[in-house]
Amino acid sequence: MPEQRLPAPDKSDQGQSDQRLIDQQAETIHFTKNWQQQLADAFNTIEDLCRYLQLSLEDLPVSVAATRNFPLRVPLSFAACMEKGNPHDSLLRQVLPVNDELLAYPGFNNDPVGDLPAAAQTGVLHKYYGRALFINTGSCAINCRYCFRRNFPYSDLQLSKQKEDAAIQYIQENPDITEVILSGGDPLLLNDARLTRLLQKLDSIDHLKRIRIHSRLPIVLPARITDELMAALAQSTKQIVIVVHCNHANEINERVIAAFAALNNHRITLLNQSVLLKGVNDDAEVLCQLSERLFTHGILPYYLHLLDKATGTGHFEVPEAQALLIMKQVQATLPGYLVPKLVKEQAGAASKTYVSS
Ligand SMILES: *Cc1c(COP(=O)(O)O)cnc(C)c1O
Ligand code: SF4
Repeated sequence: MPEQRLPAPDKSDQGQSDQRLIDQQAETIHFTKNWQQQLADAFNTIEDLCRYLQLSLEDLPVSVAATRNFPLRVPLSFAACMEKGNPHDSLLRQVLPVNDELLAYPGFNNDPVGDLPAAAQTGVLHKYYGRALFINTGSCAINCRYCFRRNFPYSDLQLSKQKEDAAIQYIQENPDITEVILSGGDPLLLNDARLTRLLQKLDSIDHLKRIRIHSRLPIVLPARITDELMAALAQSTKQIVIVVHCNHANEINERVIAAFAALNNHRITLLNQSVLLKGVNDDAEVLCQLSERLFTHGILPYYLHLLDKATGTGHFEVPEAQALLIMKQVQATLPGYLVPKLVKEQAGAASKTYVSS
């Protein structure tokens, strides 16, 4: 509970404790709003986020310049999981624009995973056998500073309403594709009407077995998991797999747990992928806690990705040798099914590449 981390009210400073009370009431009201309103209320300036977290800007290596191409965006639900007053919070580090993003690191570039040449057809990435990935939207509810897509020309790539039919046709014409992955950006930012329409079109393709949804919304904007969304997913005759994206056990609060429960009640297969991030989860104990907490709520760990070398993310890199050492400790602690597969993405490869010693 973030409220419990607040310092005890100081009687000599009535003004401040009044302010905290107002903040808490505003927070309670915020979480009664629908997901679109919660999204519209997301933090979008460094100042507002730091004020909420009771951090002073002078103590942080923040960079306004870093927000120019990739703005700050953090829903309150995610910020509420952070520890107030802690400039080194593992969740804050994922979203706070800092000076390090402006540094050049050797080997880091704007398309580290070779997605641009793979976009054979606008909005569709068909890199791996049997699976095609739709870039449904360029937007996300949160802007993760380590994101490998932070430098993408999304307006050229994403699947607009108009291009959707061509993408469906591509799947129809390729009978070896048995799984469509809805991705982005975050595909659950599409509204229910649009998702329903897309699911209906995919439903009519006989050779398609599964629809996989890659989304961080159950974690960062759990209000998105509505009864209406569940009904839309339940209408599909295909198997539905949702791969969420959670990097740290602290991201799983009571609202996220409720969203997981709704998904589990609909017998949707739930998996998690994380990115191994320096200063966030580059620690065996942190990773073990994450797997345990996910599994408690019905989610199996899937992938732990080594960082994709996108410009502006070098300060998050964990060297491969260190990653292997961490994994060794994780393996020595957890049952095999709670150990995520350590992988990296190599441009031109036929699948993700397993990293092992
Ligand atoms: C990662 C990825 C997939 C999914 O790979 P899995 O190993 O099946 O999870 C599919 N298409 C693209 C373009 C990807 O980057
Ligand atoms: S939610 Fe995923 S795609 Fe969106 S910014 Fe974060 S890492 Fe990138």
